[in-house]
Amino acid sequence: MAGQLFFELLNPAIAAVLTATFLLLWWSKPTQKHLLLLGIAFLCYGLAFVANDFLDEFEGPGLRIAVNCLFLGAVLSACVSALMRVRARVPVLAFVTTCAICAVFFYRYLLVVPSVEGRIYTVNTGFAVLSAVTGWLLIRAGIRSSVDRLFVAVTIFLFAIAVVRPTATLFKALDVNSSGSVHGSAYWATVQAVTPLLAILIALTFLVAAAAQMLNELRTEVDQDYLTGILNRRGFESKVATALKCTAPAPLSSALMLADIDNFKQINDTFGHAVGDQVIAGVGRVLALHGAADFVGRTGGEEFALFYHQTRRHDLLEYAERVRSELDRARITGLPDDYPVTISIGIHTRHQSEQLSAMMASADRSLYKAKQAGKNRAVIAPIPLSTVAGRRL
Ligand code: GH3
Ligand code: MG
Ligand code: MG
Repeated sequence: MAGQLFFELLNPAIAAVLTATFLLLWWSKPTQKHLLLLGIAFLCYGLAFVANDFLDEFEGPGLRIAVNCLFLGAVLSACVSALMRVRARVPVLAFVTTCAICAVFFYRYLLVVPSVEGRIYTVNTGFAVLSAVTGWLLIRAGIRSSVDRLFVAVTIFLFAIAVVRPTATLFKALDVNSSGSVHGSAYWATVQAVTPLLAILIALTFLVAAAAQMLNELRTEVDQDYLTGILNRRGFESKVATALKCTAPAPLSSALMLADIDNFKQINDTFGHAVGDQVIAGVGRVLALHGAADFVGRTGGEEFALFYHQTRRHDLLEYAERVRSELDRARITGLPDDYPVTISIGIHTRHQSEQLSAMMASADRSLYKAKQAGKNRAVIAPIPLSTVAGRRL
């Protein structure tokens, strides 16, 4: 008897833990509405087992309808939650139609021609359709990671359970208590035993997805400059290092542009550090929008770097001029409209298999020349004689 009670308590207990877990997760990230929906799915699942296993004295059509609505609600919420996670379109019409057809057949097998088997086939067909449609829509939304694959695998597992159990019932491999309720039957025992596995599998899949998303967000934050929103030095260097592994096809070459705000210390001293920050953010914005680079990063206080994977020398000078004229037009909060914010630019085009450090050093020399020549200009490093001779040959 104690064993039976333990068995009956298993599902409500697991459901309570999972409901609390996902509601808490949603509490900490309210924009992730699919976590709230999943919490509701686990709540429905727990209540369905409580109603079926502990409310014997209310046995009758009302309780049967409530239990099956809760089960259908749990599967429906979990499916919609999986679709919402990947921002896939939720097929409202298909889902509502499926539930409505299930309701009609359920009513028929409950009150018109009472049949426990009929109700089992009806409910499981509903589960099979919901899981199959969800799996198909998840595949259509695009499988981009192993987490996406895991979600599809779970829908296949759910579909398989929805098909295998009624089939076993059909071939009399699972007995159902035909006296009016499945409670106490072998069929119900398999539901009590398999559902915790399924619930934990679903919960783990969503938890893995949440962890993977958190990791991605952290990775982006680690590589991002908080003031400008563009890459920081670390992010810029790692992206460029990856890009430099493949050489641009001739006559194109990779290139690096360094930009440094002119007389920035004076801006800080005259208008304050906060306005200085606005200037840095404004310059970062202009470089990102008009620099036409593959990667833009803030590599130091008021210094920026732009990387071009495949470009031409004369295009680079054009980009530099465009950036300088856009900066001339830009308005920066806290600065008088006629206050000139200018930048000096040093450019280097890559020779052979140069690494980023060598490109940086050369672009920095050009930047220094631009400052020496009076600032607010771009200087491009000359092509080494060895490279020119090589090209002529
Ligand atoms: P030059 O034209 O030769 O480049 O001179 P500069 O004044 O722009 O350059 P300098 O290197 O003399 O001064 C840079 C200043 O940038 C010094 C530092 O206090 C300031 N700075 C560095 N990081 C930040 C930041 O995040 N915000 C602000 N507001 N200022 C910063
Ligand atoms: Mg500087
Ligand atoms: Mg400067």
